Amino acid sequence: MRDKYDAIVIGGGLGGLTAAKRLGEAGLSVLLVEQHSQIGGLAAFFRRRNHIFDVALHGFPVGMKKSFRKYWGKAFADRVIQLRSIRFDNPQFQLETTFDRQDFTRILTQKFKVPAAAVAAFFQRVAETNFYDDHALSTRRLFERFFPGRSDVWRFLMEPITYANGSTLNDPGVSYAIVFGNFMSRGVYTFQGGTDLLMSMMRRELRRVGVDVETHCLAERILVEKGKVRAVIVNGRTVAARAVVSNGSLVKTVHELVGDDHFDPEFLEQFNRIRVSNSSCQVYIGIKPGEKLPDIGELIFSSVHPEFDAAAICSAAVTSRSFSVYYPFIRPGSDQSAVVASMNARYQDWQNLDPQAYEQAKKRLIEQALDAFEKYVPHIRRIMDWTEAATPRTFERYTHHVDGASFGTKFDALPFSMNLARRIPGLFHTGSTAIIMSGWLGAANYGVITAHEAEKYLTA
Ligand SMILES: Cc1cc2nc3c(=O)[nH]c(=O)nc-3n(C[C@H](O)[C@H](O)[C@H](O)COP(=O)(O)OP(=O)(O)OC[C@H]3O[C@@H](n4cnc5c(N)ncnc54)[C@H](O)[C@@H]3O)c2cc1C
Repeated sequence: MRDKYDAIVIGGGLGGLTAAKRLGEAGLSVLLVEQHSQIGGLAAFFRRRNHIFDVALHGFPVGMKKSFRKYWGKAFADRVIQLRSIRFDNPQFQLETTFDRQDFTRILTQKFKVPAAAVAAFFQRVAETNFYDDHALSTRRLFERFFPGRSDVWRFLMEPITYANGSTLNDPGVSYAIVFGNFMSRGVYTFQGGTDLLMSMMRRELRRVGVDVETHCLAERILVEKGKVRAVIVNGRTVAARAVVSNGSLVKTVHELVGDDHFDPEFLEQFNRIRVSNSSCQVYIGIKPGEKLPDIGELIFSSVHPEFDAAAICSAAVTSRSFSVYYPFIRPGSDQSAVVASMNARYQDWQNLDPQAYEQAKKRLIEQALDAFEKYVPHIRRIMDWTEAATPRTFERYTHHVDGASFGTKFDALPFSMNLARRIPGLFHTGSTAIIMSGWLGAANYGVITAHEAEKYLTA
């Protein structure tokens, strides 16, 4: 780590990593500091015995292939492969899909008996939606307009998006349509080789473009002098920089890293109204070496709840979860299989549990996930040799996100994230924001947008 850089990127999530790459490529001197022992942020992986578990590699839209190619290189794009089978299993319907417009049209018209004209009009609307449209129209109103009274159709269209970004029927229809439309273009994809390979490839690329990457490095404070960014205090050491791109929590960036005294009260009053998204729980199940999982698809949206209900999806009394099934082809050359159950969750349900209650709640989470998964693989308990749970407290601990928020902030946060530099020249934010900038694709693309702004500032 040097004493001075053009730009310091705080946080090695997909947004920060991509921003750092772009700034490095532009010939600027860049330091990326990550408080955790490894880069990746929420797009994390961890090893246990012979297992590698991916935290956030369940599926992303095909657009990620283009973003990888454009911003990271062909070798990254070439590893993007399509998930073959996505299943829904709930009291309203059971079905299997490739999760694209053509297949959804088939299912909506043939299975749900929705008139073809209504389905076409809905997809037309989704395709035409852009960011500048009316944000007042909620997703609920959007569905009411095209599929009135069809809670089964709403569930089919909404539940996967709720898992993907924590959004609800009350969030803007615009953000729903953009995220849903991204998936509908050509299905759901993953990164062959896993998150561990991705992160090692990213590290190599960052080194190639001259970015210094430092892990175990906590940015404690962003120093502002004469109204402009001057430096960052990293592990107690002051490192000068003319620009800072924070990939950490937006709320903490303003209140803790910069400090309220650098913002006017009117700004703070509005800023304090932004909402963070919900958090997550996960159960990781490692399969014994030599044992195989039957082919049950790669992603199962499994629920026993009667209808779509975003609050119930987050409830501590879990009724809905997604199962990601990792077969050996995800990591070619290995014979590893694993299952990750993901649940949306509320930080408040986990926040105040004492150590004993917390351990018990985690054990319950694991047992309930196994019980639910037995429906698909009855002998799962016999072929597994590792289970572990993550909770909102885990996500908070490893990423420093307020309330362990998994998907950034709700929509109203976007102008604050995008316009920080208007308040404090040299201060930029990137990463999961406002639903549409969230997920692998949203976060990486937002990293590019922010890097462009930071580069303009630095080279003006
Ligand atoms: C359980 C789960 C499953 C998911 N599944 C998918 C999926 O299948 N597909 C998909 O597209 N998306 C998925 N996502 C969402 C996706 O992973 C995230 O939207 C994306 O990775 C977030 O990237 P980011 O740029 O916002 O950074 P983050 O991942 O939020 O990373 C921020 C980084 O900043 C670091 N940091 C924070 N403060 C400081 C500080 N002061 N100093 C130094 N470092 C700091 C943190 O440690 C962290 O590494 C999932 C998320 C979760 C939680």
